[in-house]
This record gives sequence, C-alpha cells and structure tokens, in this order.
Amino acid sequence: MKALQLVAWQQEPELREVPVPEPGPGQVLIKVGGAGACHSDLHVMEWPAGTLPYQVPFTLGHENAGWVEKTGFGVEGFAVGDPVAVYGPWGCGYCYACSQGIEVHCENAAKVNGGAAGCGLGLDGGMAEYMLVPSPRFLVPLGSLAPEEAAPLTDAALTPYHAIKRSLPLLTPRASAVVIGVGGLGHLAIQILRALTSARIIAVDISEEKLKLAAEVGADATVLSDAEAAAKVAELTRGQGAELVLDLVGLDTTLAMAAKMARKMGHLTVVGMAGGTLPYNFFAVPAECAVVTPYWGSLPELVEVVALAERGQIRSHNAYYPLERAHEAYRDLRAGTLAGRAVIVPNR
Ligand code: NAD
Ligand code: ZN
Ligand code: ZN
Repeated sequence: MKALQLVAWQQEPELREVPVPEPGPGQVLIKVGGAGACHSDLHVMEWPAGTLPYQVPFTLGHENAGWVEKTGFGVEGFAVGDPVAVYGPWGCGYCYACSQGIEVHCENAAKVNGGAAGCGLGLDGGMAEYMLVPSPRFLVPLGSLAPEEAAPLTDAALTPYHAIKRSLPLLTPRASAVVIGVGGLGHLAIQILRALTSARIIAVDISEEKLKLAAEVGADATVLSDAEAAAKVAELTRGQGAELVLDLVGLDTTLAMAAKMARKMGHLTVVGMAGGTLPYNFFAVPAECAVVTPYWGSLPELVEVVALAERGQIRSHNAYYPLERAHEAYRDLRAGTLAGRAVIVPNR
C-alpha cells in the first residue's frame, strides 16, 4: 500500500510503498477513511533532528478515523466495517494516567513507544490505506458519523475541548472567551465554546477569510490580529479582558497579545506550538491569571467530542485530498489558504 512517510528531518514527506500491516493478538487493522493534516505536522517536519525523540521513517497522520478491516486474536466488541475514530496518543493502558484515560500523559510512554507520542508522531499513522491500532481501547465508535468527516474530531476538536473544559467554571454568561487563530483547531474551538458555554466568543486572526468562517461557526465578534487587537478586545469586555484567552498560534506576538487580552484571575491557555516565548514574571500577566499549556486530550473526552458531533453541535469544515495529493494539503496549510481542516482520504 501507499503511505506518506517522514523519511528524514527537515525534509518534505515521501509517498512510499509499504506492506499492509497484519494485526497480531489484541490489535486492530483500520481501513483509513480520513487523516487530518495538522499544523503540528509542519512543526515536526521543520524541527531539526534531535528535537523530538522519534525515529524516522514513520507514516504521518495523528488525526484519524476509518472502518475496522480486520481484528487480531482476542479482539471482541468490534465487527468488520464498523466506523471508528482512533484515539492517537497510545500509552501503556495501566499506569495511573492511563487508568484515567489520559494516555497522552502515560507514565511509561518512553518504555512503551520508545519516545514516540502516538500514531503519526513517531509511530505509523493514518496517511496510508490502512493503519494498525495496538488495542481496541483506542477506538471510539462513530455511530452515524462518516469517518472522513469525523477524523479531525480526534485532534482538531479534542485538543481545544480538553483546553476549554478546564476553564468552564470561569465561562459564565457574562464572561468572554478569545480564540486566537481560527484554523483547524480554532474553528472547532469556537463551536465547542458555543456548545458548552454561553460566554461571548471573540475570534482573532490575521486573515479576513478565517474571520468570516469564525462568524459563520458562532463567534460573536471578530478582530483582525494587529497592533489594535488588544484594545478592541478591551472595548468588547468593558475594559476587563477575557476570562479565557486561547492562543492557538503560539508566536511571540500572539502570546504578548494574549497576555494583554486576558482578565485578572483568568486563564491564558497556550495550545499553539509556533515556538514563541512569553516573558514571565509577576507583572507579565494580569494578577492571578493562570498560564497553561494543555496537550491533546483524554479518551473519555474523545468519547464526549464524538457525542457532541453526533448531536450536530460541532462539525469540522473539511477540504479533502487524495493520498497522492497530500503534499498539496500541507502546502495549502502552510500557505494559510485553507478554511477549516485538510483531510487526506486514502481510500476514496
Ligand atoms: P492552522 O494552520 O490550521 O491554523 C492556524 C491559524 O492561525 C490560521 O487561521 C492562521 O491564519 C492563524 N494565525 C497565524 N498567525 C496568526 C497571528 N499572528 N494572529 C492570529 N492568527 C494567526 O493550525 P492548526 O492545525 O489549527 O494548529 C494550530 C496550532 O496548534 C499549531 O501550532 C499546532 O502545532 C498546535 N497544536 C497543538 C496541540 C496541542 O496538543 N497543544 C494539538 C494540535 C495542534
Ligand atoms: Zn495535531
Ligand atoms: Zn500509561
């Protein structure tokens, strides 16, 4: 089968011929319906060798959904053809973090995966016709959802869901939430805020097109990301700032802007991994504002995200690319010309 693999650091990935994996005991082979192209993949491709403890080559695609193709010995509860979302960070399953479903923070990750974070991040992911999943516990039934539509739920929705959930007590009807960066994650963050809270949602982006999408998916106000943006957010929040500022970019400029937009006792939540720095001391952020860096999400949260999508409360706006044109998906993501998420469909 064909697979889009990262073969060397700081190089474009290559479409290569690899064997179809065979599921061993307890494993499941998935026919890939969709594999989302995440901005994190661009970071992974760009960072120099040694930045991440992963071994190349591996197949990209950490945001996947598909159909059960074949089950290994001992796998019960799934039948061939079942549509499923794949939870991407694969832990040991039995440490304290894994016992709570937070396999993304598995205490044995280094031993279990040799430093890889999960599928598409050091281990073979979903940008191939088939992918091997080491345990059925990583599969969430999709019910009525189509895998190619649902793939971004496993990261582009799960990550902001996890990031927003910890701020829910702050997000009362008189509160505001700022979303900086209305890309793959951002357009879903807005919908998640809409579905879970009645806070006023303010979207910030450098692109008018992205701000248009933000308004379509539920933002109450849109603000162009420039030198005036923090003043505009102050105006929209009666001079108080926002209870939650979600930075889905993570540049020096967006972090500095986020610190100006946050409210005292608020949350400045940094999800973007662009590598910027927020100078930090007592006076750098408003008093008692917590700065956190959430990472991906938990298995129970993915179940909740899928339920939210099944109920029609969130929907990823996808642009589809066949596997042969996956390079174009990353090119468009890099250029910032996509509205929503690029999804690779290897079996269409
Ligand atoms: P994306 O490229 O789809 O979206 C980024 C958006 O930010 C675009 O709409 C772009 O126009 C906008 N933007 C760029 N510069 C801006 C600026 N100065 N001000 C305002 N907006 C700006 O990316 P994505 O796939 O949604 O990922 C977003 C970030 O989140 C990436 O850094 C990615 O690595 C990171 N990420 C983190 C986690 C995690 O677990 N923490 C998980 C997934 C992705
Ligand atoms: Zn990602
Ligand atoms: Zn574990």
